[in-house]
Amino acid sequence: MLKVEHVTKKYGNLVAVNDLSFEVKDGCIFGLLGLNGAGKTTTFRMILGLIDDYTGNITIDGKHIDYVISDKIGFLTEERSLLTKMTVLDQIIYYGRLKSMEESDIVKKLDYWLKRFEISEYKNKKIKELSKGNQQKVQFISAIINEPKLLILDEPFSGLDPINVELFKKVILDLQKKGTSIIFSSHRMEHVELFCEELVVLVKGKSVLQGKLTDIKKNYKKKNLVVVGDIDEDKLKKCDGVNKITKEGNEYIISITDETYVKSLFKEISKYDNITKFSVEDPSLNEIFISIVGEAYE
Ligand code: ATP
Repeated sequence: MLKVEHVTKKYGNLVAVNDLSFEVKDGCIFGLLGLNGAGKTTTFRMILGLIDDYTGNITIDGKHIDYVISDKIGFLTEERSLLTKMTVLDQIIYYGRLKSMEESDIVKKLDYWLKRFEISEYKNKKIKELSKGNQQKVQFISAIINEPKLLILDEPFSGLDPINVELFKKVILDLQKKGTSIIFSSHRMEHVELFCEELVVLVKGKSVLQGKLTDIKKNYKKKNLVVVGDIDEDKLKKCDGVNKITKEGNEYIISITDETYVKSLFKEISKYDNITKFSVEDPSLNEIFISIVGEAYE
Protein backbone atom coordinates (compact mmCIF):
# COMPACT_ATOMS: atom_id res chain seq x y z
CA MET A 1 0.00 0.00 0.00
CA LEU A 2 2.08 2.93 1.31
CA LYS A 3 5.84 2.75 0.85
CA VAL A 4 8.20 5.34 2.33
CA GLU A 5 11.73 4.72 1.09
CA HIS A 6 14.87 6.51 2.32
CA VAL A 7 13.04 9.80 2.77
CA THR A 8 14.99 12.82 4.02
CA LYS A 9 13.52 16.29 4.49
CA LYS A 10 15.53 19.33 5.55
CA TYR A 11 14.31 22.76 6.64
CA GLY A 12 17.46 24.83 5.95
CA ASN A 13 20.18 23.10 7.96
CA LEU A 14 17.73 21.18 10.16
CA VAL A 15 17.20 17.56 9.17
CA ALA A 16 13.55 17.04 10.18
CA VAL A 17 13.27 13.52 8.69
CA ASN A 18 16.41 11.49 8.22
CA ASP A 19 16.57 8.51 5.83
CA LEU A 20 13.19 7.16 6.93
CA SER A 21 11.80 3.95 5.42
CA PHE A 22 8.66 2.02 6.33
CA GLU A 23 5.76 0.24 4.70
CA VAL A 24 2.07 0.22 5.63
CA LYS A 25 0.28 -2.82 4.27
CA ASP A 26 -3.40 -2.98 3.23
CA GLY A 27 -5.69 -3.02 6.25
CA CYS A 28 -2.81 -2.55 8.68
CA ILE A 29 -2.74 -0.08 11.59
CA PHE A 30 0.74 1.38 11.73
CA GLY A 31 2.09 3.51 14.59
CA LEU A 32 4.26 6.54 13.84
CA LEU A 33 5.63 7.63 17.19
CA GLY A 34 8.03 10.15 18.61
CA LEU A 35 8.40 13.02 21.03
CA ASN A 36 7.41 16.56 20.08
CA GLY A 37 9.49 17.72 17.14
CA ALA A 38 10.50 14.18 16.11
CA GLY A 39 9.32 14.66 12.52
CA LYS A 40 5.85 13.04 12.52
CA THR A 41 3.87 15.98 11.08
CA THR A 42 6.54 16.56 8.44
CA THR A 43 6.21 12.89 7.46
CA PHE A 44 2.40 13.16 7.27
CA ARG A 45 2.67 16.28 5.12
CA MET A 46 5.02 14.51 2.72
CA ILE A 47 2.65 11.53 2.47
CA LEU A 48 -0.24 13.92 1.75
CA GLY A 49 1.78 15.59 -1.00
CA LEU A 50 1.79 18.94 0.87
CA ILE A 51 5.60 18.92 1.01
CA ASP A 52 7.45 17.75 -2.08
CA ASP A 53 10.99 19.05 -1.65
CA TYR A 54 12.40 15.90 -0.08
CA THR A 55 14.72 13.15 -1.23
CA GLY A 56 13.69 9.49 -1.39
CA ASN A 57 10.41 7.98 -2.54
CA ILE A 58 6.84 7.93 -1.25
CA THR A 59 4.38 5.79 -3.20
CA ILE A 60 0.89 4.38 -2.76
CA ASP A 61 0.29 1.16 -4.67
CA GLY A 62 3.45 1.92 -6.62
CA LYS A 63 2.37 5.43 -7.68
CA HIS A 64 3.78 8.76 -6.58
CA ILE A 65 1.33 10.99 -4.69
CA ASP A 66 -0.71 13.24 -6.97
CA TYR A 67 -4.19 14.82 -6.67
CA VAL A 68 -5.97 11.63 -7.73
CA ILE A 69 -4.14 9.61 -5.07
CA SER A 70 -4.43 12.24 -2.34
CA ASP A 71 -8.23 12.17 -2.84
CA LYS A 72 -8.08 8.70 -1.33
CA ILE A 73 -6.17 9.79 1.79
CA GLY A 74 -7.89 11.05 4.93
CA PHE A 75 -6.14 13.12 7.60
CA LEU A 76 -7.24 13.89 11.14
CA THR A 77 -4.85 16.61 12.23
CA GLU A 78 -3.69 17.04 15.80
CA GLU A 79 -4.75 20.68 15.81
CA ARG A 80 -8.47 20.87 15.14
CA SER A 81 -9.15 22.90 12.05
CA LEU A 82 -12.90 23.30 11.61
CA LEU A 83 -14.49 26.43 10.21
CA THR A 84 -16.60 27.14 13.26
CA LYS A 85 -19.09 29.54 11.68
CA MET A 86 -20.22 26.89 9.19
CA THR A 87 -22.87 24.26 9.86
CA VAL A 88 -21.86 20.62 10.16
CA LEU A 89 -23.53 19.90 6.81
CA ASP A 90 -21.81 22.76 4.94
CA GLN A 91 -18.48 21.89 6.51
CA ILE A 92 -18.58 18.26 5.42
CA ILE A 93 -19.84 19.18 1.95
CA TYR A 94 -16.86 21.56 1.71
CA TYR A 95 -14.36 18.84 2.71
CA GLY A 96 -16.04 16.24 0.51
CA ARG A 97 -15.93 18.57 -2.51
CA LEU A 98 -12.21 19.12 -1.87
CA LYS A 99 -11.88 15.34 -2.23
CA SER A 100 -13.75 15.46 -5.57
CA MET A 101 -16.97 13.90 -4.23
CA GLU A 102 -20.50 14.52 -5.55
CA GLU A 103 -22.71 16.47 -3.14
CA SER A 104 -25.46 13.82 -3.04
CA ASP A 105 -22.87 11.16 -2.15
CA ILE A 106 -21.40 13.38 0.59
CA VAL A 107 -24.83 13.95 2.19
CA LYS A 108 -25.68 10.24 2.07
CA LYS A 109 -22.42 9.30 3.75
CA LEU A 110 -22.69 12.17 6.25
CA ASP A 111 -26.13 10.94 7.39
CA TYR A 112 -24.67 7.49 8.02
CA TRP A 113 -21.73 8.83 10.04
CA LEU A 114 -23.80 11.34 12.04
CA LYS A 115 -26.00 8.44 13.10
CA ARG A 116 -23.01 6.24 13.88
CA PHE A 117 -21.48 9.00 16.03
CA GLU A 118 -24.87 9.72 17.62
CA ILE A 119 -24.97 13.40 16.58
CA SER A 120 -27.63 13.43 13.84
CA GLU A 121 -29.46 16.31 15.55
CA TYR A 122 -26.44 18.61 14.98
CA LYS A 123 -26.46 18.34 11.17
CA ASN A 124 -27.69 21.92 10.64
CA LYS A 125 -26.03 23.44 13.72
CA LYS A 126 -23.00 25.70 13.50
CA ILE A 127 -19.75 24.02 14.57
CA LYS A 128 -19.16 26.65 17.26
CA GLU A 129 -22.39 25.56 19.00
CA LEU A 130 -21.07 22.01 19.44
CA SER A 131 -19.15 20.69 22.44
CA LYS A 132 -15.44 19.91 22.03
CA GLY A 133 -16.11 16.17 21.82
CA ASN A 134 -18.81 16.61 19.18
CA GLN A 135 -16.54 18.92 17.18
CA GLN A 136 -13.97 16.14 17.32
CA LYS A 137 -16.56 13.76 15.85
CA VAL A 138 -17.23 16.20 12.99
CA GLN A 139 -13.48 16.53 12.42
CA PHE A 140 -13.20 12.74 12.29
CA ILE A 141 -16.11 12.53 9.82
CA SER A 142 -14.38 15.09 7.62
CA ALA A 143 -11.32 12.79 7.50
CA ILE A 144 -13.29 9.67 6.50
CA ILE A 145 -16.12 11.09 4.37
CA ASN A 146 -14.15 10.18 1.20
CA GLU A 147 -13.78 6.52 2.30
CA PRO A 148 -10.00 6.84 2.31
CA LYS A 149 -7.74 3.91 1.44
CA LEU A 150 -5.16 5.45 3.75
CA LEU A 151 -6.24 7.26 6.91
CA ILE A 152 -3.81 9.28 9.02
CA LEU A 153 -4.94 9.77 12.61
CA ASP A 154 -2.93 12.20 14.72
CA GLU A 155 -4.02 12.02 18.38
CA PRO A 156 -7.60 10.98 17.48
CA PHE A 157 -8.76 10.65 21.09
CA SER A 158 -7.70 14.02 22.44
CA GLY A 159 -10.51 15.76 24.29
CA LEU A 160 -12.82 12.73 24.28
CA ASP A 161 -14.56 11.21 27.29
CA PRO A 162 -14.13 7.44 27.89
CA ILE A 163 -17.47 6.55 26.24
CA ASN A 164 -16.55 8.42 23.09
CA VAL A 165 -13.04 6.93 23.10
CA GLU A 166 -14.75 3.52 22.89
CA LEU A 167 -17.01 4.75 20.08
CA PHE A 168 -14.00 6.04 18.10
CA LYS A 169 -12.09 2.80 18.73
CA LYS A 170 -14.94 0.75 17.28
CA VAL A 171 -15.16 2.96 14.20
CA ILE A 172 -11.38 2.76 13.65
CA LEU A 173 -11.40 -1.04 13.94
CA ASP A 174 -14.39 -1.27 11.56
CA LEU A 175 -12.55 0.87 9.01
CA GLN A 176 -9.54 -1.42 9.34
CA LYS A 177 -11.75 -4.49 8.82
CA LYS A 178 -13.03 -2.94 5.61
CA GLY A 179 -9.43 -2.72 4.39
CA THR A 180 -8.47 0.89 5.24
CA SER A 181 -4.78 1.26 6.04
CA ILE A 182 -4.28 3.51 9.04
CA ILE A 183 -1.32 5.47 10.33
CA PHE A 184 -1.87 6.16 13.99
CA SER A 185 0.06 8.69 16.00
CA SER A 186 -0.36 9.27 19.70
CA HIS A 187 1.63 9.99 22.82
CA ARG A 188 -0.66 7.61 24.69
CA MET A 189 1.21 4.32 24.43
CA GLU A 190 -1.68 2.27 25.80
CA HIS A 191 -3.71 3.34 22.75
CA VAL A 192 -0.86 2.54 20.39
CA GLU A 193 -0.44 -0.85 22.02
CA LEU A 194 -4.11 -1.57 21.55
CA PHE A 195 -4.19 -0.83 17.83
CA CYS A 196 -0.88 -1.03 16.10
CA GLU A 197 0.55 -4.21 14.65
CA GLU A 198 3.67 -2.44 13.42
CA LEU A 199 5.33 0.81 14.36
CA VAL A 200 8.28 3.11 13.96
CA VAL A 201 9.69 5.38 16.67
CA LEU A 202 11.39 8.58 15.53
CA VAL A 203 13.99 10.53 17.44
CA LYS A 204 15.09 13.75 15.75
CA GLY A 205 13.77 12.49 12.43
CA LYS A 206 15.56 9.14 12.57
CA SER A 207 14.03 5.72 13.18
CA VAL A 208 15.38 4.28 16.44
CA LEU A 209 12.93 1.40 16.80
CA GLN A 210 10.90 -0.29 14.11
CA GLY A 211 8.99 -3.49 13.44
CA LYS A 212 6.08 -5.62 14.58
CA LEU A 213 4.89 -4.78 18.08
CA THR A 214 4.97 -8.45 19.14
CA ASP A 215 8.59 -8.83 17.92
CA ILE A 216 9.63 -5.56 19.57
CA LYS A 217 8.27 -6.81 22.89
CA LYS A 218 9.68 -10.32 22.51
CA ASN A 219 13.14 -9.08 21.58
CA TYR A 220 13.28 -6.46 24.29
CA LYS A 221 15.63 -7.90 26.88
CA LYS A 222 14.19 -6.34 30.01
CA LYS A 223 11.21 -8.22 31.47
CA ASN A 224 8.88 -7.70 34.41
CA LEU A 225 8.19 -10.17 37.18
CA VAL A 226 4.75 -9.58 38.57
CA VAL A 227 4.46 -10.84 42.12
CA VAL A 228 1.66 -10.79 44.70
CA GLY A 229 2.62 -11.64 48.27
CA ASP A 230 4.70 -10.51 51.23
CA ILE A 231 8.18 -9.96 49.84
CA ASP A 232 11.15 -8.12 51.34
CA GLU A 233 11.52 -5.34 48.78
CA ASP A 234 14.87 -4.06 50.08
CA LYS A 235 16.42 -7.51 50.05
CA LEU A 236 15.15 -8.32 46.57
CA LYS A 237 16.39 -5.00 45.20
CA LYS A 238 19.94 -6.18 45.96
CA CYS A 239 19.58 -9.43 43.97
CA ASP A 240 21.44 -9.84 40.69
CA GLY A 241 19.42 -8.78 37.65
CA VAL A 242 16.93 -6.57 39.50
CA ASN A 243 16.62 -3.04 38.05
CA LYS A 244 13.88 -1.65 40.22
CA ILE A 245 10.72 -2.63 42.08
CA THR A 246 7.48 -0.70 41.97
CA LYS A 247 4.08 -1.43 43.47
CA GLU A 248 0.80 -1.14 41.57
CA GLY A 249 -2.20 -2.01 43.73
CA ASN A 250 -1.31 -5.27 45.43
CA GLU A 251 1.20 -6.27 42.71
CA TYR A 252 4.95 -5.83 42.86
CA ILE A 253 6.46 -5.15 39.43
CA ILE A 254 10.07 -6.28 39.51
CA SER A 255 11.92 -5.02 36.45
CA ILE A 256 14.77 -7.38 35.54
CA THR A 257 17.65 -6.86 33.12
CA ASP A 258 16.92 -10.08 31.19
CA GLU A 259 15.16 -13.41 31.31
CA THR A 260 18.19 -15.38 32.55
CA TYR A 261 17.56 -14.04 36.06
CA VAL A 262 14.05 -15.50 36.31
CA LYS A 263 15.16 -18.85 37.74
CA SER A 264 17.29 -17.45 40.58
CA LEU A 265 14.67 -14.83 41.46
CA PHE A 266 11.92 -17.46 41.44
CA LYS A 267 13.99 -19.46 43.93
CA GLU A 268 14.44 -16.39 46.12
CA ILE A 269 10.79 -15.31 45.99
CA SER A 270 9.54 -18.86 46.71
CA LYS A 271 11.06 -18.48 50.18
CA TYR A 272 8.41 -15.93 51.13
CA ASP A 273 5.00 -16.90 52.49
CA ASN A 274 1.72 -15.98 50.85
CA ILE A 275 3.00 -15.69 47.28
CA THR A 276 -0.19 -15.97 45.23
CA LYS A 277 1.17 -14.74 41.91
CA PHE A 278 4.51 -14.99 40.09
CA SER A 279 4.53 -14.28 36.38
CA VAL A 280 7.05 -13.15 33.78
CA GLU A 281 5.62 -10.45 31.56
CA ASP A 282 6.79 -8.36 28.63
CA PRO A 283 7.21 -4.70 29.51
CA SER A 284 4.59 -2.23 28.31
CA LEU A 285 5.21 -0.24 25.14
CA ASN A 286 5.39 2.83 27.36
CA GLU A 287 8.38 1.38 29.25
CA ILE A 288 10.10 0.37 26.00
CA PHE A 289 9.41 3.80 24.46
CA ILE A 290 10.81 5.71 27.43
CA SER A 291 13.87 3.49 27.61
CA ILE A 292 14.66 3.55 23.85
CA VAL A 293 13.90 7.24 23.33
CA GLY A 294 15.81 8.14 26.52
CA GLU A 295 18.86 6.19 25.33
CA ALA A 296 18.68 7.73 21.86
CA TYR A 297 18.74 11.22 23.36
CA GLU A 298 21.80 10.57 25.54
P1 ATP B 1 4.78 17.34 17.47
O1 ATP B 1 4.58 16.02 18.16
O2 ATP B 1 5.17 18.43 18.41
O3 ATP B 1 3.65 17.72 16.56
P2 ATP B 1 6.36 16.39 15.20
O4 ATP B 1 6.96 15.06 15.49
O5 ATP B 1 5.14 16.43 14.39
O6 ATP B 1 6.14 17.19 16.55
P3 ATP B 1 7.50 18.15 13.16
O7 ATP B 1 6.43 19.18 13.27
O8 ATP B 1 7.51 17.30 11.95
O9 ATP B 1 7.54 17.23 14.47
O10 ATP B 1 8.90 18.91 13.27
C1 ATP B 1 10.15 18.26 13.07
C2 ATP B 1 11.25 19.33 13.16
O11 ATP B 1 11.16 20.20 12.05
C3 ATP B 1 11.16 20.20 14.41
O12 ATP B 1 12.48 20.47 14.84
C4 ATP B 1 10.48 21.46 13.89
O13 ATP B 1 10.89 22.58 14.65
C5 ATP B 1 10.99 21.54 12.47
N1 ATP B 1 10.01 22.17 11.57
C6 ATP B 1 8.75 21.75 11.32
N2 ATP B 1 8.15 22.53 10.40
C7 ATP B 1 9.05 23.47 10.04
C8 ATP B 1 9.03 24.56 9.13
N3 ATP B 1 7.97 24.84 8.37
N4 ATP B 1 10.15 25.31 9.04
C9 ATP B 1 11.24 25.03 9.77
N5 ATP B 1 11.34 24.01 10.64
C10 ATP B 1 10.26 23.24 10.78
